[in-house]
Amino acid sequence: MVSMRIIREGNYDHRVKMGGHDELTILGDEFNELTDRLQKSENKRSRFVSDASHELKTPLASIKLLTDSILQNDMDMDTVREFVGDIGNEADRLNRTTAKLLALTRVDGQEKTESEIIYMAPTVERVIRMLSAIAAKNGITIESDLSQDSPVLILEDDLYQIAFNLVENGIKYNVPGGKLAVKLLRHEDNALLQVSDTGMGIPEEALNHIFERFFRVDKSRSRASGGSGLGLAIVRAIIHKNRGDIRVTSVPDQGTTFTVAFPAFDTEVDLT
Ligand code: ADP
Repeated sequence: MVSMRIIREGNYDHRVKMGGHDELTILGDEFNELTDRLQKSENKRSRFVSDASHELKTPLASIKLLTDSILQNDMDMDTVREFVGDIGNEADRLNRTTAKLLALTRVDGQEKTESEIIYMAPTVERVIRMLSAIAAKNGITIESDLSQDSPVLILEDDLYQIAFNLVENGIKYNVPGGKLAVKLLRHEDNALLQVSDTGMGIPEEALNHIFERFFRVDKSRSRASGGSGLGLAIVRAIIHKNRGDIRVTSVPDQGTTFTVAFPAFDTEVDLT
């Protein structure tokens, strides 16, 4: 009882000590396991809050620095304009980061996953249309083959988010003149979305981390392109909510392929 009170008060590293093999000992073990889980989730939560604060602090610090220099120095109008432009860019970054943080907490907080049966091609096509101007601006050609379309059980908005993040990354981390191939495929009972780029690739030691929140391979480059390290964390969270899976293979300096798999709905028997 004393232990329960200690833990209820937030002291999650407390453990009960029991000897013997009776039911009370089993209860004690269960209790310790529960507190272990509580402690882990509490640690994760506080790390998330501190990472998120850090992410917001950096652009805010730049904005402060830029405004101070404008106020303290006698600048010509061109330099003032340049600095104000930088302030605008930092504000844009803050906007993008907060939007992604909200998206992430929304996926995390969702109890039951809402879904609908949709064909993937129209949504993927919409994403490609949306990003084709940015691709062209960066000299990237997008090739798509969406002929092997399948119906899947997912919210259209969620599929859009997944495809958008993957295609956007394939453009952002590509090289000028590079290519991006977007394909729908079928493998047994799975509907696949495959996004392959001819970009910079991901070093092997980073492959296990790219789906973690705030992880960036090259912090300065990703920052310059407005990256927050949250896109793939959101992608994975949405995919797992929808009974899907995501895999990545990459060869540095050659390119990266992301493959998303969902159970195809036309062969689905068990919906529970
Ligand atoms: P970001 O907002 O930084 O792009 P993501 O979560 O989308 O965040 O990606 C995490 C990191 O994984 C990126 O910073 C980048 O280093 C790496 N990455 C993601 N997609 C690719 C890709 N297609 N090619 C190379 N690196 C990638």
